[in-house]
Amino acid sequence: MTFKEFGLDESLLEGVDASGYENATPVQEQVIPLILQGKDIIASAQTGTGKTAAFLLPIINRLLASRHDDQINALVIVPTRELAVQIAQNLEGLSYFTPISSIAVYGGGDGSTFSTEKQALSRGADIVICTPGRMIAHLNMGYVRTKGLQYLVLDEADRMLDMGFYDDIMKIISFLPPVRQNLLFSATMPTKIRDLARKILHEPEEINISISKPPAKIVQQAYVVYEPQKIPLVKWLLKSTNLKSTLIFCSKKHNVKQLTMELKRSKFNAKEIHSDLDQAGREDVLLEFKSRRLPILVATDILSRGIDIDNIEMVINYDVPNDGEDYIHRIGRTARAETDGIAFTFISEKEQNKFRTIEDLLGSPVNKAVVPEQLGPAPDYSPRSKSRRPGHGSGGHGGGHGGGQGGRGGGGAHRRQSGPSGGGGAPRRG
Ligand code: AMP
Repeated sequence: MTFKEFGLDESLLEGVDASGYENATPVQEQVIPLILQGKDIIASAQTGTGKTAAFLLPIINRLLASRHDDQINALVIVPTRELAVQIAQNLEGLSYFTPISSIAVYGGGDGSTFSTEKQALSRGADIVICTPGRMIAHLNMGYVRTKGLQYLVLDEADRMLDMGFYDDIMKIISFLPPVRQNLLFSATMPTKIRDLARKILHEPEEINISISKPPAKIVQQAYVVYEPQKIPLVKWLLKSTNLKSTLIFCSKKHNVKQLTMELKRSKFNAKEIHSDLDQAGREDVLLEFKSRRLPILVATDILSRGIDIDNIEMVINYDVPNDGEDYIHRIGRTARAETDGIAFTFISEKEQNKFRTIEDLLGSPVNKAVVPEQLGPAPDYSPRSKSRRPGHGSGGHGGGHGGGQGGRGGGGAHRRQSGPSGGGGAPRRG
């Protein structure tokens, strides 16, 4: 379906064109007409599906017909600064040929940023994209022009609740007019999201684009290792793949720092990103990585959701993510749009049970690649946890059970999805 078929304003279609979009994605096909009709929406859609444009385009289109100049017309609440910046950039592209104004409001800047935000919020801006804490700081001062607000978007709502923003969100809503159009996007739909939806949405249409499955194009491999083998294994993977963009996730800041230091020591061009960096530092590093000047970025999972970096060739989970959704979000950084990608997860002995739980959620085991011989003997994969999924557990999903890595090929630089016995290309042990 083309964007013209939605009946969008010409000026907006120009922005769509300039952004390089030709056809609508599935989430856009479903969501855009409903928002244009004025419906409330609850949509489960993974990042990378085009969900941002799915809500921005119809909101902008409707605002072109009914905006109040001196008010905030739409408010988009998001969990992180990075996501706020990214949505603002997307918005800038789409609205370039329209008179729509916007501002991203998030913490971390200096005093001058705050006063710029204050000016915009007290004069009015068509679309405000904000993180909860910063928005409340402004709202509490009394100058934010919310009286004429028509649209409220909660993006990555599950993430916001995970980060403890429930009270903040409700507080922000208490400043908004009761009659408005509400749109809620969430990667997952746990009970707490449904409870939130019941409180906020009015007779919503429900749209379900994603079940929790990573894109099929991602080649997934796991290495079962001892903890001290992880750093040498990262170096080996980086050397043997020699790719232009690799994103490495660690669960802890400490691991990010240690790994980055070790990589630099071995002359890899790597940088780190985590919450100790100030906003400007984070943005600089992200920009370097996005523009391919920096081939290796080591991150805490601050980056795993919602951040749109195109064409990452390889994701390495240095630590097993906490749950399946996090796993999917992390590896979802690769294989976006038309590109293939490869995702490796390192499983230490302590992390085996956690990884089995993730495999349960995925519905099938992840191929176990052979640890390179020079790294010494590796442990077997023998997680204790029993699957609770019906039909999982005996046969049927070869390779997840016992026995470790022996028969599972894969790893190394190959970029094609392999069959159940794994792909070729990996050096094998012994
Ligand atoms: P999102 O899921 O909103 O983070 O979008 C993921 C990426 O897809 C972003 O780079 C968007 O600019 C891009 N995108 C969104 N809609 C389309 C489309 N219809 N055609 C091509 N790319 C798109």
